Amino acid sequence: MATKLLLTFAICRLIVTVGLTLEPTELLRLGLTVDPFDVESASADFGLMTKVEPLAVLRPSSAKDVAQFVKAAYESSHGFTVSARGHGHSINGQAQTGTGVVVQMSGVGSGGKPRVWGDDMYVDVWGGELWIDVLKSCLAYGLAPKSWTDYLYLSVGGTLSNAGISGQAFHHGPQISNVHELDVVTGKGELMTCSKEQNPELFHAVLGGLGQFGIITRARISLEPAPQRVRWIRVLYSNFSAFTKDQEYLISLHGNQKFDYVEGFVIVDEGLINNWRSSFFSPRNPVKISSLGSNNNGGVLYCLEITKNYHESTAETIDQEIEALLKKLNFIPTSVFTTDLPYVDFLDRVHKAELKLRSKGMWEVPHPWLNLFVPKSKIADFDRGVFKGILGNKTSGPILIYPMNKNKWDDKSSVVTPDEDVFYLVAFLRSALDNGEETQSLEYLTNQNRQILKFCDEDGMKVKQYLPHYKTQSEWKEHYGSKWDRFQRMKMKFDPRHILASGQNIFTPTFLSSSNMMVMDIPIPIKQKARESIDF
Ligand code: FAD
Repeated sequence: MATKLLLTFAICRLIVTVGLTLEPTELLRLGLTVDPFDVESASADFGLMTKVEPLAVLRPSSAKDVAQFVKAAYESSHGFTVSARGHGHSINGQAQTGTGVVVQMSGVGSGGKPRVWGDDMYVDVWGGELWIDVLKSCLAYGLAPKSWTDYLYLSVGGTLSNAGISGQAFHHGPQISNVHELDVVTGKGELMTCSKEQNPELFHAVLGGLGQFGIITRARISLEPAPQRVRWIRVLYSNFSAFTKDQEYLISLHGNQKFDYVEGFVIVDEGLINNWRSSFFSPRNPVKISSLGSNNNGGVLYCLEITKNYHESTAETIDQEIEALLKKLNFIPTSVFTTDLPYVDFLDRVHKAELKLRSKGMWEVPHPWLNLFVPKSKIADFDRGVFKGILGNKTSGPILIYPMNKNKWDDKSSVVTPDEDVFYLVAFLRSALDNGEETQSLEYLTNQNRQILKFCDEDGMKVKQYLPHYKTQSEWKEHYGSKWDRFQRMKMKFDPRHILASGQNIFTPTFLSSSNMMVMDIPIPIKQKARESIDF
């Protein structure tokens, strides 16, 4: 029995090159039909600030499908773009395209299951696999990847196209430092295996390459024995320099006598502290920020967040190890909050928050996020000017702050980081609300992001955006600095028609130029489930 497909036509707005329309027949020839649901979901992302409809969405089931499709795009006489989309958790339309097709890498039926190689301590995963599923597959073998993001419902290809960072990065480096090998479909439709030894130019370009050089269809990720449990500790500081001194000390430690995860956040209003406290344990005695000495400090507190992983067999020594490490730190003595939980629950902690926010209708709102890498030498200026200045005691979401060691990042990758041995991630994870409060509005928050960037620029801080977003090529050139020439050369080599990941706005597809673009309404085929089935 097979399901019959009916083709009907719908009117779709399309940006076309004058005289070179991608016609419905070409979509059909490529084996594409247009599923309105797929098109709708591929036109939006987590940021909810841009909406761009693709012509169609391809759901590949193998690397071969991806390669055949990209080759057809590369060879197309008209030309059209191809944007890989993982879980669509970008902020500014990075996985969208209005001039071509979205390749939906994550989701049912795509790729294969993760394959764990226990003896070699790595796992081979499909590029669209979500990290939560990678984790589950590896745990079945008592293993786990080493470097994480805070949230696991992101695709492997999506985070490797950026860097993939969390509190383990100070020790293990970002996720892109923990990849042995990749299969990549280049912008010419060639399926290539690459690593540090084999096709190294492609390997390094793709890692942190914002999807510009190829579509990752397989990644071989390094593993370690999975811990069973995690001791999760939060301590507070009212003094910024004591806070950063301790964070920097903790990321300088090696060997066993160190924490496994070092992050931190800035608390500029009281609601936040009691909010996280309640997810930690019962909030019977709400914490008053003023009682912790923040009054002398512009009302701002800093929370250091650290964890120590352990195996039940070493549970007896964990308390002593933690105590010895905490003794070296200068936090407010009465502010130690501790909890203990299974490793998987710790890694998957943000999903809990997601479910809470979803139930309150606060997940699917615009997210004008700003993520910056700030050089260590400028972090105190940043505190004075931004946390205690521009923010004005108002937040609209968590503000993360934690340092990383540059020597754990491979400079050959495409990511750019500040030119200092230690730099901080500062992440403003904002949610805009339409509740009549001006300081929560999208316009206000977007404006504040601009003010922060202007302040950094005027202060000569040399910050770099993480998950960068720019609108012009000259801004991208400045972002990449000395890496720009290589970035451009790799683009010419691996995606000469500039058809990949055009939503990043770095290169204009060669078949488009502003003078020959126009917007047209054209009919395109729609896939519908038949109301009846037929037997063969
Ligand atoms: P998408 O948004 O689908 O794609 C992002 C870019 O990658 C696009 O340009 C796309 O074309 C390209 N791309 C996607 N798949 C592939 C592929 N297979 N091959 C080549 N290119 C591809 N980041 C961190 O580093 N650390 C964090 O802790 C962290 N936490 C987050 C928490 C939340 C709630 C959210 C929404 C984001 C977070 N991020 C974090 C950011 C996240 O890593 C990036 O937004 C990432 O791109 C999302 O992955 P995705 O699969 O949704 O990518």
